Order: sequence, then structure tokens, then C-alpha cells
Amino acid sequence: MTAQILNGKEIAAQIRLNLKEKTDRLPAKPHLAIILAGQNEASAIYVRNKQKAAESAGVRTTLYQFASTSSEELISLIKKLNADHDVNGIMVQLPLPYGIDEKAVLRTVNPIKDVDGFHPLNIGLLQNNSEDAMIAATPKGILRLLQETGVKLQGLRALVIGRSQIVGKPAAMLLLNQDCTVTIAHSHSQNLPELVYSSDIVIAACGCPKLIKGEWIKDQAVLIDVGINSIDGKLCGDIDFDAAKEKASFITPVPGGVGPMTIAMLLENTVEAYLKQNAE
Ligand code: NAD
Repeated sequence: MTAQILNGKEIAAQIRLNLKEKTDRLPAKPHLAIILAGQNEASAIYVRNKQKAAESAGVRTTLYQFASTSSEELISLIKKLNADHDVNGIMVQLPLPYGIDEKAVLRTVNPIKDVDGFHPLNIGLLQNNSEDAMIAATPKGILRLLQETGVKLQGLRALVIGRSQIVGKPAAMLLLNQDCTVTIAHSHSQNLPELVYSSDIVIAACGCPKLIKGEWIKDQAVLIDVGINSIDGKLCGDIDFDAAKEKASFITPVPGGVGPMTIAMLLENTVEAYLKQNAE
């Protein structure tokens, strides 16, 4: 049997439409400040896509772009944006150029404007399973895709491949909060095929093209592919899609799976931040 494709592009479009209906009823449009530092071409494309998507969701954006900059300059800008009541969300496009103190920059963002969910306070709130946590956009999008399947997550064995601060670790914590039995694999893990074979849910976020083979997949597993890789100029994920879809019950494509959901969740976080900041 062939897996059902989880169409992130369509689901994200629906989320943006719902956000637009919500933002149309607000007295002002939620405002997202985007900081883009350095000359990374891919980052510039991601930012343009975020701005375009924001417009369709009724979210205003302002871009602060620096060809070259310093930690001090970025920190000083973020402090100004923190104090500006007209700004509801602040996101710093990663990666930052070499030499910039990324942790110090991200820690400067006021947690209630931290729509990327990278501030240590928000990471701690996620660990506490608190409703107040601003959850990082990619893991939040992953969970939304899992919820779309209608599969009951409680008690399932979930494997997260990758332990980065922005994807793997928060995704694992979100799944734990959903009562999954969670394993995190990383570059030093042994017997990855075995770990995959014993998992009902696999979140692949390691950035290794087609690492996860079809024969490793448990029958009827749910597969979420976060990886964005390029082979001969063609995008692919961390899962060997063509082989894996023959075993799985649900699978995300690359592109068109997690990527658009990440942007939709960033916008949802911005609207939520606006509402929190304007609550009486
Ligand atoms: P990262 O490089 O920070 O982390 C990669 C993780 O994978 C590390 O924890 C590493 O230990 C693990 N890893 C590497 N090789 C491995 C192997 N052979 N077996 C098991 N684990 C291994 O990357 P990241 O920022 O978490 O991103 C991961 C992938 O997801 C990348 O391809 C990135 O482009 C993509 N990504 C996509 C989105 C999206 O919205 N779709 C968002 C963020 C990242």
C-alpha cells in the first residue's frame, strides 16, 4: 500500500487563510520585524518567502538587513524593537555570519516577542509543557502535520533523528508532551536502521540526503521529513521518499511538506504574540 502524502503546502495555505480572517478583524495588523544579517543567498530567499506568506496572512513585516554587522549592532537593534509597542514579533534569520555571538543575540529578544521560540525562557516553558511557551516554528509545524493524520499519538514510539536546538530537541519535547515514547538519534547513535524499524513515528531532521532507507521503515509508520538537501540541483529530504512511501501510512514530501508549515507557524506565533500583548 502506498502512503498518504501529507501536503504541507495545502495545509499551510489553509492556516494562512484562517489567520487572514482573524487578522482582518483586529484593529491593527500584527507586525513582525525580520533581521537578516550577512550575504547568505538561501537566507535571503527564505526571508522573501516569509514576507510574501506574511502578507497573505495579514501580518505586516519590516526587514532590517545588514550586509555586514556586529553582535553589538544587532543587540542594540533588538533592544529598540523590544521597546517598540508597534512591533509584536522579532525573528532573526539564521545562520548569522561568522563571528556574531548567536546565543547572545537570540537571548536579547524579549520572550513575548520571540516568535521563533529560541529564547531559553521559551525552551524552558516548552519543557514544562506550559501553555505560555512560544514554540519554535518547525517543531510546531511537525506536530500540526502529525495531528492532521488523525493518528492517536499517545503511547506511540517516536524517533527524532537530529538533536539541534531549533528542530530535534524541541520536536522531541513536543512529542514527549503528547505522551509518545521518544528516542533521539544523532550523529553518534548506533544501529539507526534498528531504531527506525522499531518506531511508529519518524521525524528525520539530520540534513543527510536520503539517509533513511525504505527497508528500515516499520509497516504503517508515520514519516515526517524535515531535511532540505540538494542532489544535482534537485531538492530532497533525509528519507528515501520513493521507497519509504511503499511502507509508511503517511509521509511528507520535500519540498512541500514541513517547509511551508514552518512559515505558517511563524505567522501563527506572530498573531498569538499580538493577541497576548494586546490582551486587557
Ligand atoms: P543541524 O545541522 O543543526 O543538526 C543536524 C543533527 O543531525 C545533529 O544533531 C546531528 O547529530 C544529526 N545527524 C547528523 N548526521 C546524522 C546521522 N548520520 N545519523 C543520525 N543523526 C545525524 O541541522 P538542523 O538545523 O536541525 O536541520 C536539520 C535539517 O532540517 C537540515 O537539512 C535543514 O536544512 C532542515 N531544516 C528544515 C526546516 C524546514 O522548515 N523544513 C527548518 C529547519 C531545518
